Amino acid sequence: MKIQQKVKINQNSELLVLFENNDSSVKKLIKSIPEKINKLENFYKINLPKTTIEFVYSREDFDQKIGSETPEWMVGFTRGNKIYLFSPQVIEKESTHKKAEVEKILIHEICHIFNHKINKRTLRFFDEGVALYLADQEKPKPKKFDYKKIKQKFFKWDISSKQFAENDGYQLSYWFVRKVVEKYSKNKILNLLKTDPRKIGRIINQL
Ligand SMILES: [Zn+2]
Repeated sequence: MKIQQKVKINQNSELLVLFENNDSSVKKLIKSIPEKINKLENFYKINLPKTTIEFVYSREDFDQKIGSETPEWMVGFTRGNKIYLFSPQVIEKESTHKKAEVEKILIHEICHIFNHKINKRTLRFFDEGVALYLADQEKPKPKKFDYKKIKQKFFKWDISSKQFAENDGYQLSYWFVRKVVEKYSKNKILNLLKTDPRKIGRIINQL
């Protein structure tokens, strides 16, 4: 049986967390989360919308929640203001991830909620890149950075999560965002997120 716990972030924000009653790994995990979300609120300059995190305990249950079969590496998913995530208790058995990664994965999913609040139509490339960067999920550095190829492959609407992953989207978007921060500032990535997708080509040419 899952229980619900309210987690206060600050005066304006709170989380609702659903997890198995006897799961101490979740209780431990959520202790550090309010401080991290407060930092994100400072960065995004908005409050986190009311968010629910539901922990899941099997691949079958996860697939059912998402509505399709998911690959072994996929452990978190955000729809609207709801996050589904494998409990640290089962993640090593049910996926290719380590227990120690769960906190960063949760921060990543929370970043998606902020990103969508800032811009409902933000490109997947920026949405993922910013989430990876802010959750500190460093990826191996690509040997080459071909902007033309990145534009062709990723700056479009119809890219599925599968296509995105298979074309090294996670690695390239992480490094794209990191380069923007290093060259300009962290605030510049807020502009990327806010950009009207029809103007994205122009923005990129200016970087
Ligand atoms: Zn993501």
